[in-house]
Amino acid sequence: MKAAKGEEYLQMYPEGTGRWMNQCVACQRKGYKPDMPDVIYPGYLARNLRKYFTPLDVDESGRCDQCRDASLKTV
Ligand SMILES: [Zn+2]
Repeated sequence: MKAAKGEEYLQMYPEGTGRWMNQCVACQRKGYKPDMPDVIYPGYLARNLRKYFTPLDVDESGRCDQCRDASLKTV
């Protein structure tokens, strides 16, 4: 339910939220960029993204920590 609400929010404000979101190319998990500021105009945007999503860091090839770890283990 939480994820669905987040998706709804992204669709309502694609321009405002797009630049602050990361998505893993491998598992498709979404999260906000860890360096997102506390307040983004309009003020509720950062607050809502923090409510709906967890921070997600991706590497240069677009993979999250979990997928990067998984690929390292299988080598
Ligand atoms: Zn991933």
